[in-house]
Amino acid sequence: MTLTRRTFLSTAAVAAAGYFAPEPLFGQMELPQQPEMVLKARTNAATAKITVQKLRGNVSVLMGSGGNIAVLPGPQGKVLVDSGISTSQPQIKEALDAISADPIEHLINTHWHYDHKDGNLWMHAAGATIIANEKTRRRLNSPQFIPLFNATFPAEPADSLPTLLFTENHLLNINGTTLHLEHYAPAHTDTDISVHFTDADVLHTGDTWFNGVYPFIDYATGGNIDGMINATKRNLAAGTMSTIVVPGHGPVGNKQQLSASLDMLTAIREKVADLKRQGKTIDEAVSAKPTAAFDDKWGKGFTTPEMFTRFAYQGV
Ligand SMILES: [Zn+2]
Repeated sequence: MTLTRRTFLSTAAVAAAGYFAPEPLFGQMELPQQPEMVLKARTNAATAKITVQKLRGNVSVLMGSGGNIAVLPGPQGKVLVDSGISTSQPQIKEALDAISADPIEHLINTHWHYDHKDGNLWMHAAGATIIANEKTRRRLNSPQFIPLFNATFPAEPADSLPTLLFTENHLLNINGTTLHLEHYAPAHTDTDISVHFTDADVLHTGDTWFNGVYPFIDYATGGNIDGMINATKRNLAAGTMSTIVVPGHGPVGNKQQLSASLDMLTAIREKVADLKRQGKTIDEAVSAKPTAAFDDKWGKGFTTPEMFTRFAYQGV
């Protein structure tokens, strides 16, 4: 047989797809290929130290693996908000067992990002029903591409998907108390919710609040600066003046700190909008350093002053 270009290509494709691909071991579930940043996070999280901070009314927070994890134990089983990175399972389990012997009955995902839901699979296997906004399930159920990271996050296996879904608001009555779940859209993504433990007056904001640093805003999956500002206002309106506020990332805080974030977001949004109105390009806006007055306090996190200027520019 003469190898035409066509047969050569199809032979090569068969070889690439079949012959050279490692055979999955019998009985081993084949999981989709994750982007480099997820693999790196899993490597780091395998040895991460988990700290537990008691908040109020039996609510605690686990910190150290992905986004902050809130926990409410009780006779109807534990309720968790977010599931951290999967490879921290032994440390997270140890921390949860030290709080109480109750099994994990409910897991709430604040949004679709991997650092808040990578532990879904093991927590579901441990018995948890997963609750989220319906858009979180939609995003997790199909591949998501984030150009900023040049990364495609594959569709999740069925067992890690939320199954108890809501659109705007959901009340969860459990362990003698009520949790109020509220969808904010658009905000950091289009999937974000907050969770208010009403009796303890503890609010988990998911990634609609980064305490002490510029926020990451995921425009690729429906986030924008004005949505972040609105979400911050809604976080401020929830609960009371003494609400304990658990951010998606950073230390546990309060309404005063949340209010300082709102001032920062609003001021930078206005400065960047002015530059855009003057006809400045995105690079010229970055060169004008509209965040300069805030950088000492807010500019030392994952989102750099330049990144945050670009996030603001895109949305005004
Ligand atoms: Zn996020």
